[in-house]
Amino acid sequence: MAKMKMIIDCDTGIDDALAIAYILSNPDIDLIGVVATFGNTYLKDCIRNSIGILENFDRYDVKVYAGSSHGLNEGSFEKHTGSDPVHGKNGIGDVDLGENKGSVQDVSGIDFIVDSARKYGQDLHLVFVGPLTDLYKCIEKDEEALCEVGKITIMGGALTVQGNRDIYSEANIASDPLAAKKVFSSKLKIDVIPLDVTLKTLFRVKDIAHWNSSNKAGKNIYEIARFYYEGEYGDEQIGGAMHDPLAAFASYDPSIITNWFPCNLTAEDSGRTICTFEELNLKEKRHRVALDVDGKRFTDTYIDMVSKLIEKCGL
Ligand code: CA
Repeated sequence: MAKMKMIIDCDTGIDDALAIAYILSNPDIDLIGVVATFGNTYLKDCIRNSIGILENFDRYDVKVYAGSSHGLNEGSFEKHTGSDPVHGKNGIGDVDLGENKGSVQDVSGIDFIVDSARKYGQDLHLVFVGPLTDLYKCIEKDEEALCEVGKITIMGGALTVQGNRDIYSEANIASDPLAAKKVFSSKLKIDVIPLDVTLKTLFRVKDIAHWNSSNKAGKNIYEIARFYYEGEYGDEQIGGAMHDPLAAFASYDPSIITNWFPCNLTAEDSGRTICTFEELNLKEKRHRVALDVDGKRFTDTYIDMVSKLIEKCGL
């Protein structure tokens, strides 16, 4: 069977880095490129971190492309004050991955995604785990091509739980609510992985302690993850939520989600995600929102697969 082709668009970010690790660990997925966008930190840092993580796992062949540096309604971007305590000043827990060998591609991330959609169609899965600015720009460029890909999955929103930017809004959507609104009103069918499920995928430092006693790749990813587990909720006993890894996992294996809610979403200016009033009784639903997950199967499988990926890396 041909491998599933995947592109991840991410604001790398610790859980973004952990999502990239998952994709690399899955032998059935061919990661054809990474697009970096602003979000958890500045675009240039997200580019550097994305290249650094790929090289950490000896994947010099996977190229990184530049997406948006700020939201649709903004002329520039300032990092949110909540970012550094969770992701560190450099976005990856202040871990130094060393000098990158590779550099960002000349082709823009938007062109890369659209060209790949035209080229691979149903064989391509797109995963967006940062603000939705890039996805909107892709739709603007060629909505039909985007409609033809195998699957589009986003990490974002909060439907039945409180947000993490404020009580109603989740950070990815709140970072560019206009883009999210335009994406949700497009023709695209989208799988949405919100906080409702990612908050059920907590795991703790002790679950991955063995990574720290392995090779350089293992030590680095352990240190990156440890910062997050201690920083996200200020208590490593609680653990950290695997927001972005779950989105990548669910793109490959949607059966990990045990309750999908079909609906038509919109985003308010505040970043709140909610079902549209006008489309409530429409039979056709463009979105399915994950409301429950087999969290234990997810975390067990994730740790097992990434452990095997680390074992394959050199000293
Ligand atoms: Ca992210």
